[in-house]
Amino acid sequence: MADEEFIVVIGLEVHCQLDTASKLFCGCSADFRADAPNTHVCPVCLGLPGALPVLNKKAIEYALKVAKALNCRIPEEGEFCRKNYFYPDLVKAYQITMGDNPLALGGYIEIEDDAGNPKVVNLTRIHVEEDPGRLVHMGNKERGHYTLVDYNRSGIPLIEMVTEPELCSPKEARRLLNKLRATLEYLNVFDPDKEGSIRVDANISIKGHERVEIKNISSYKGVEKALTFEITRQKNLIRRGGTISRETRHFQEGKGTTTSARSKETATDYRYFPEPDLPVIRVADWLENIALPELPDARRDRFMSQYGIAVNHARTLTGDLHLAEFYELVAPIGAQIAASWVADILIGELNYRDMPLSKITSHTEQFKELIVLVRDQKITDKAGVEVLRVWLDSLDQSEKIESPGMIVERLGLTRESGESFRGIVETILANNPQPVADHKAGKKGALNFIVGQVMKETKGKSDPREIHAMIAEILGE
Ligand code: ZN
Ligand code: MN
Repeated sequence: MADEEFIVVIGLEVHCQLDTASKLFCGCSADFRADAPNTHVCPVCLGLPGALPVLNKKAIEYALKVAKALNCRIPEEGEFCRKNYFYPDLVKAYQITMGDNPLALGGYIEIEDDAGNPKVVNLTRIHVEEDPGRLVHMGNKERGHYTLVDYNRSGIPLIEMVTEPELCSPKEARRLLNKLRATLEYLNVFDPDKEGSIRVDANISIKGHERVEIKNISSYKGVEKALTFEITRQKNLIRRGGTISRETRHFQEGKGTTTSARSKETATDYRYFPEPDLPVIRVADWLENIALPELPDARRDRFMSQYGIAVNHARTLTGDLHLAEFYELVAPIGAQIAASWVADILIGELNYRDMPLSKITSHTEQFKELIVLVRDQKITDKAGVEVLRVWLDSLDQSEKIESPGMIVERLGLTRESGESFRGIVETILANNPQPVADHKAGKKGALNFIVGQVMKETKGKSDPREIHAMIAEILGE
C-alpha cells in the first residue's frame, strides 16, 4: 500500500497552568515548585469535609483573555461541574471542571502547514479546571515499593483547550503548540519555563481506522516524538493486516515509544453534574474589562512592515515574546543584519549550548557591539561567529565576561584589507593550477577551494567577497 493512502488525523487536548499567584479555589500560593511537598495546602485543596471553594477571579480573567485572543465565541454564562473518578492524586474523588457550559466555544489558531502555507486549525472549546496533585512512584513499574503524593499542585488553575481533529502531521502539532505557547506568553498568563506547565493528550488515527489517545505528554518535543512513533506503529499494523483498537496509550518519554494503558472511559463513567458550591459565572459582566496586547501574528506583520524583514525572520523572531523584545532592542543598529544575526545565528548557538535567551538579555549592549563590528566591517562574518561563540562561552561560565571588542583584540581577529593578503592569494593561486584551470574552463564554484585556503591562511580575517574580487582581478577577469 502506498504511503499516500495513509491519511493522518490528529486532534490535541492541551492543559496549561495559568500563572496566577494563588490556586483556583483557595488562597494557597501557586508558587510551589521550589518548596517541600505538601507545604502549599489547606482544607480546600486537600478536599477536607466541609471546606468550600471560592473562585479565583484572576484565573477566569486569564482564561477569558486566552478565549478572546483565540477568537472564541464566549457564552453569557459558564458553569463549573464535578467530574467524578477515583485516583490517589485527586483529593475529593472529583475534579472541579466545566462540562456542558464551558467558558468558550469554537475559535481557531493559525499555523503553517508542512508546505509553509497558512492553515487554520479550529478549536472545539476552552474551559478552566483544577489540577490534581502529583504522584511520585518510587522504584520502577515492576518493583515500585511505594508511591508518594504531593498536593502542592492540587487546585492549581488549568486552562484546557481542545482542537478539532484537523492536524495532519506531528510537525503541525508541534507548530500549533508553539503558537499556543507564544500566544499565552504574550498574554502574560502562562510561564512556559515552569516544569510541568503544559501537558498534552493527543488523539491520532489513520483515516478509516480507529482512534488512539496518547495521554499526558509533558513536553513539546515529546508530542512530536509520540505522534511520530504512533503513526509508524499504526501504519505497520495496518500493513500487516492487523486492526487498530480504540485505546489509551502512555508515552514513554525516555524510550520514545507508546504502550497500551487501558480502554477509554466514556463521559457517563464520570457522572458529571453541576458543582453545587460555586455559582454560575456571568461572563458578560467581565468581558468589557479584558484588553488584549499585541499578539504574535500582529507583531510578525508589524516587524515586516516596520523593519522591512522577511516573513521567515519575522515569524521566528515573534515566535517567542522575549526573543521579539530582544530583537527590538538590537534592531536600531540595523534591522536586517540584526534579524539575520538573531534569528539565524544566535538562536542556533543558544540551542547548541542549551542556553536560555535570558542569559544574554542582560548583556544586550555587548551583543549589539558585536553586530556593529560586523556591520562596520571591522571583522568578517566568519570572525563574528567565532567572537559570538567565545563570548557566549564566557557568559555561560559566568567568569569575567569579555566584551566582543576585547575578544577581537585578544584573538587578533580584526579584519584585514585586501592588500595585506594579496601575497597569500597569489601564492595559493600559483600552487593550485587545477582549480584555476577548471574555473577558466567554466566550471562553477571551482574557485571556492582557493577562497577557502586563503581564509584558512588568514585565520578568518579576510572577507570571502573581497578574496573573490581579488582573484578575478589577478586572473584578469
Ligand atoms: Zn489550598
Ligand atoms: Mn482536563
